[in-house]
Amino acid sequence: MTVTMPRPALSVRNPRTGLLDAQILPADAATIDALSSQLRAAQPDWEAIGPQARDECMRALADAIERNEAALLAALAADTGRLALSRMEIGAVCGMLRRWADIAPQLMPAGEARRASASPGVELAGRSLPYPLVGAISPWNFPLLLAMIDAVPALAAGCAVIVKPSEVTPRFIAPLRDAIRQVPAIEAVCAVIEGDGATGAALVGAVDYLCFTGSVATGRKVAETAARSLVPVSLELGGKDPLVVLAGSDPRTAARIALRASCANAGQACQSIEHVIVHRSLEADFLDALVRGAEEVTLNVGDIADGTIGPFIHAPQAGIVQAQIDQAVAAGASVLCGGTVEMIGGGHWLRPTVLTGCTRDMAILREETFGPVMPVTPFDSEDEAAALANAGDFGLSAAVIGRDADSALRFARRIEAGAVSIMDAGLTTSVWDAEKSAFGISGIGPSRMGPGGLLRFLRRQAFIIQTGTPQPLAAYGENAPPGG
Ligand code: NAD
Repeated sequence: MTVTMPRPALSVRNPRTGLLDAQILPADAATIDALSSQLRAAQPDWEAIGPQARDECMRALADAIERNEAALLAALAADTGRLALSRMEIGAVCGMLRRWADIAPQLMPAGEARRASASPGVELAGRSLPYPLVGAISPWNFPLLLAMIDAVPALAAGCAVIVKPSEVTPRFIAPLRDAIRQVPAIEAVCAVIEGDGATGAALVGAVDYLCFTGSVATGRKVAETAARSLVPVSLELGGKDPLVVLAGSDPRTAARIALRASCANAGQACQSIEHVIVHRSLEADFLDALVRGAEEVTLNVGDIADGTIGPFIHAPQAGIVQAQIDQAVAAGASVLCGGTVEMIGGGHWLRPTVLTGCTRDMAILREETFGPVMPVTPFDSEDEAAALANAGDFGLSAAVIGRDADSALRFARRIEAGAVSIMDAGLTTSVWDAEKSAFGISGIGPSRMGPGGLLRFLRRQAFIIQTGTPQPLAAYGENAPPGG
């Protein structure tokens, strides 16, 4: 008999104070197995009630989340150290639940009548079936939103779901569970579990489809574990998004866009702009406007409800970002503003940082930074701009600003990334119906946005009906007449 010991509690750090002021009990493999049996037993009823009834439940969950907003907001603010974006996350998840509730009934395939096959004497029928149990593993940068972004369409498709948020930001799990508990039909098929990487690894093999959002390094591990269990996966991984500012653009508008798209959430977003590639004719004006804008940004130290950017949510990330900046400077890059992580009140903070003179051999241009850092590189020709934008292995998203949308769109067709924002940047955060793939090492699997976000959770089952005379074995023998 195998006896598994419960896993010890893990302490959770507060990003504003540095104090270990929360704990989680990471779910172990035995807990996940028991939970998955329970959810699998409930899933057929959830599937059977049909899309309209499921959608009513999802609207009820949105209402319950709104009723729990105060508790959820307090927990998310403690998890992330920032308030306004936490409020936005809650609003975004309620919007997501209602949006999928609106569109899922039209997306769910209708029953199919028997029809003729292209093969003589054969008729076909078929149906689409949800994967019974979907797993979702999520990161710490938008804890609630990214915990639910795959779970909601999976529920809409009729799947049961186990969500495993990051151990870095788990305080929101309790109030989210409270909201889920208020909708018993969803509680029966949706569990949110506490845990770390080991919990995540145990979840991968316990489900029928796994959605992972996180780093490239962990994504590779998840893909390996999933391959061993032959579990299909969607991986939404890191990025190194470029913003190209073409000749003829307005440099001040471009600087305003770059600042927002690089520094929102203190740069802790997969679609953050991490390299600005600007036409040499605009470079001086662009840098001047960018640095002036960057210097006006305030840290929301002290009063959490005041200031523009919050702390590093995960303390080790501050060290990674500082090391990239220091390495770039040691190799010849210049810091025009920011550049030094400050320790204030136990949290780690970085003011918007503008760098020039960065080269491809520096980690700051090769690796994901995940901080409010803007390396700016000038270009002379569009060929050069395309080469700079396409350098490296990431391909999550990108942005192009030009004289007008048409010229920016023309250039955007040269960019190898799954989504390109035109005349703005980071539009994938707010636009939900643009289907896209992650290119390169930024991910694999169908689009999570648009109809594909739900349809990926359905499998096809074909019924192939013989209406004529089944063939005898002799039809496959050496003496069978040519052509059958
Ligand atoms: P991470 O890869 O360290 O962790 C993500 C999740 O994986 C966590 O829940 C963690 O507990 C779990 N995990 C760790 N080891 C595991 C294992 N062996 N098996 C299964 N699960 C495991 O990522 P992070 O640091 O939390 O998040 C930041 C990263 O997420 C960045 O690279 C960012 O770009 C990426 N991200 C991508 C998107 C996207 O949509 N493409 C969105 C947000 C964040």
